[in-house]
Amino acid sequence: MDLSYSPEAEAYRAKVRAFLAANLPADWQGLGALAGDEAEEWADRWRDVMAKNGFLGITWPKEYGGQGLTKLEQVVLGEELARARVPQYRAVDTTNIKMLGNTLVKWGTEEQKQKYLPRILSGEDTWVQGYSEPEAGSDLASVHLKAELDGDEWVLNGQKIWTSRGMEGTAIFLLARTDNTAAKHRGITFMLCPISTPGLEVRPIRTLTGVEEFCEVFLTDVRIPVANVVGPVNEGWKVANSLLGLERGEEAATNPIYFKAELERVIQLARDKGRINDPIIRDRLAWCHMKVEMMRFLGYRILTAVLRDGALGPEASISKLFWSEYHQVLADLAMELLGPEATVREGRRPYKHYRADEPGAANSSNSWIDVFLMNARSGTVYAGTSEIQRNILAENILGLPKEPQTNS
Ligand SMILES: Cc1cc2nc3c(=O)[nH]c(=O)nc-3n(C[C@H](O)[C@H](O)[C@H](O)COP(=O)(O)OP(=O)(O)OC[C@H]3O[C@@H](n4cnc5c(N)ncnc54)[C@H](O)[C@@H]3O)c2cc1C
Repeated sequence: MDLSYSPEAEAYRAKVRAFLAANLPADWQGLGALAGDEAEEWADRWRDVMAKNGFLGITWPKEYGGQGLTKLEQVVLGEELARARVPQYRAVDTTNIKMLGNTLVKWGTEEQKQKYLPRILSGEDTWVQGYSEPEAGSDLASVHLKAELDGDEWVLNGQKIWTSRGMEGTAIFLLARTDNTAAKHRGITFMLCPISTPGLEVRPIRTLTGVEEFCEVFLTDVRIPVANVVGPVNEGWKVANSLLGLERGEEAATNPIYFKAELERVIQLARDKGRINDPIIRDRLAWCHMKVEMMRFLGYRILTAVLRDGALGPEASISKLFWSEYHQVLADLAMELLGPEATVREGRRPYKHYRADEPGAANSSNSWIDVFLMNARSGTVYAGTSEIQRNILAENILGLPKEPQTNS
């Protein structure tokens, strides 16, 4: 097995390193070493620096603002940014660049690509995800948001929920029901809608962590032009699923770098708490180390499949299932090491740009409880629950019989 990268990818690594050396402060410790507000401002400024230097959307074609590079260079970029302890982009760019941008590259019309992709990279537009509804989560194909054609406009009525960072979005991509008579996986259309469209209202939801990260989105007679449909009308399920593949598996090869850094912090916590020689703790840490290594090789496997096939298949579910379940075990171990301290929040609340905590952040109870424990809990729910990932793997990789459907 040859795990070395191509000469082109290594040349790109040298370019990224030169960029980082020229743009990061000499005494740079990592985003987590900055104070709360300072970290947030720095991360926003850093995103602009990345955009202006052509380090966002690097796999997109050059004519839309990208660099025309491959997923391998994307991985190299992720590796170098992680090592340099800087974020790839803002948290909301997960839905903006990774999900919608990449989906438009694949499914968008020429006009849509020219119109939206450069605005995504520049930060003028920020897209959020409008998939889930009160009655459609795991069973996403049950979406009810009603879309009726009126001349050259679609008129939307209904509700979305759990829209992450909805208050930061300038636009939302939606799954709408355009044919009530078709089987439920047909009759769905993928649409683009500016948040400022009359009749659209975003309401924040305050969560257990005290922040208003989620939103409900209400749509009443919202009118959008037919040009805002991505992919064929009534075939939005295919577009929706290729986007979900990106959400679940895109970072499979770079995530283990963050998980490794996170595990090192837990090992440090064990040292700080005088538990590092406890054989049971050592055994559990060793188990975590093995899992991180397995994720690293799984990441290479997924990357190989992407480079070969040009897209992610059901393999994306393996990675999602693996890291989200591992993360909960590690979070529980960290809580146990913190002991009674875990009931008292101390230190600053980290500004999360990573799946893991920010490099350089203090090993405080606040940082572990907010970023780590709470996020680890939600990891097995968002982007499709563990049960749904297992269903996908059973049906699409193992070839087991399909689940009975009530209307398909
Ligand atoms: C942090 C976070 C961020 C999110 N961000 C967004 C966002 O930006 N945009 C968006 O649209 N949505 C978002 N979501 C919503 C997310 O996609 C849904 O929560 C998820 O798909 C599960 O749907 P549900 O909550 O309705 O649970 P349900 O579908 O009601 O599931 C409840 C339970 O039943 C189980 N279950 C359901 N069906 C089956 C089955 N067929 N077989 C076995 N078990 C089953 C589930 O696994 C789960 O344990 C987010 C969720 C979280 C936690």
